[in-house]
Amino acid sequence: MKNLVILGSTGSIGANTLQLVADFPDRFRVLGLTAGGNNDRLFAQIRRFRPRVVALADEAAADRLRRQCRPRRDSRQAHVEILSGMEGLVRVATLNEADTVVSAIVGSAGLVPTLEAIRARKTIALANKEPLVMAGSLIREEARRQGSVILPVDSEHSAIFQSMSGQRPGDVRRLILTASGGPLLDLPLAKRRTIKPAQALKHPTWQMGTKITIDSATLMNKGLEVIEARWLFDIPSERIDVVIHRQSIVHSMVEYQDSSVIAQMGLPDMRGPLAYALNYPERMPLGLPSLDLTRVKTLTFEAPNLKRFPCLGYAYEALKAGGTLPAVLNAANEVAVRGFLQGRIGFDDIARLIRRTMDGHVPLPLSGLEDVLEADRWAREKTLKMIESKA
Ligand code: NAD
Ligand code: MG
Repeated sequence: MKNLVILGSTGSIGANTLQLVADFPDRFRVLGLTAGGNNDRLFAQIRRFRPRVVALADEAAADRLRRQCRPRRDSRQAHVEILSGMEGLVRVATLNEADTVVSAIVGSAGLVPTLEAIRARKTIALANKEPLVMAGSLIREEARRQGSVILPVDSEHSAIFQSMSGQRPGDVRRLILTASGGPLLDLPLAKRRTIKPAQALKHPTWQMGTKITIDSATLMNKGLEVIEARWLFDIPSERIDVVIHRQSIVHSMVEYQDSSVIAQMGLPDMRGPLAYALNYPERMPLGLPSLDLTRVKTLTFEAPNLKRFPCLGYAYEALKAGGTLPAVLNAANEVAVRGFLQGRIGFDDIARLIRRTMDGHVPLPLSGLEDVLEADRWAREKTLKMIESKA
């Protein structure tokens, strides 16, 4: 029986994780959950999975949840401790009895809890890629020092991890990340300029949270994943390539010295990579349909167009420059994507604002978490100011 903590339980990855817990009650027990705010989904999760501790980032929401969860005299509802703020999130992320921490908060908010879970020597099932983008070198070093294992949940990185199993790391020549291309791949640029959030949120192959879906539409998601791969697998950016693969069947590939390429395939369903990370190295009978390649028929691969999708190039640039620049790229992207989702800026403004924020930054080497948080704060403020002044 594995004791799980799920950071970001009310999100898309969080819900998929709890689906696995529901399907395999003899393998997993939920010890702790966290979310940004309170909602019906969280309350239902608490009733169903009976975690011992729950933490909400939002203090007022935690107060409301405490009232909601106060046991009635006639009920047999188990007591649940409800914590709040960053301190609460960290408490849940580092619970003594937890074996695996599923890191599935969206964005930079997951950095501190994930890092603390590593410091507490937990096994990390990592979906939340932004912390690795911001502070990859620090996280990698901390995991090495503590002997904490980070298992990828992101489908591409899970595919690479699976394709490397039994291989010698020194034999790897190249990682090839696949990208579906997102919902706007073929849209004429003139139409893209005026696209509304609702249209950009219609992903062709994956059901995910809003931020990552917009990141897929700009291809920033793939850029963040290149940086994630660099730190998960210790491969320099020159040896990480991206190809557009519309069908999302080949989840990624690894090329070896002898030019042999190993790929991992499957129908797009996050329960596959999630279950692999949660039960590694065992595979679970998930009851998902078989991949029938005679029905898929065609698998296509295309080079990404960096003129149409500049964000992918910006991510490579930030990774090469290193230091604080990836954290700046990430923060500018988070603020710009939120601005787009709120209808305050247009789709193409996302890339434009990231470019301008990066251009205004003088990258510094990373000596610790403080440098990352300072760069993150600086970039947020700068990007937000540009949105507010409609610059
Ligand atoms: P989501 O928006 O559906 O869920 C995000 C979760 O984080 C929610 O539980 C939310 O309450 C919580 N949260 C948001 N802001 C918070 C804050 N300030 N403090 C604490 N908690 C906060 O996101 P998602 O699609 O599940 O993605 C989660 C992470 O996993 C992202 O980093 C994403 O890139 C990565 N990922 C997701 C998928 C997918 O299929 N959804 C696939 C690969 C990687
Ligand atoms: Mg992915």
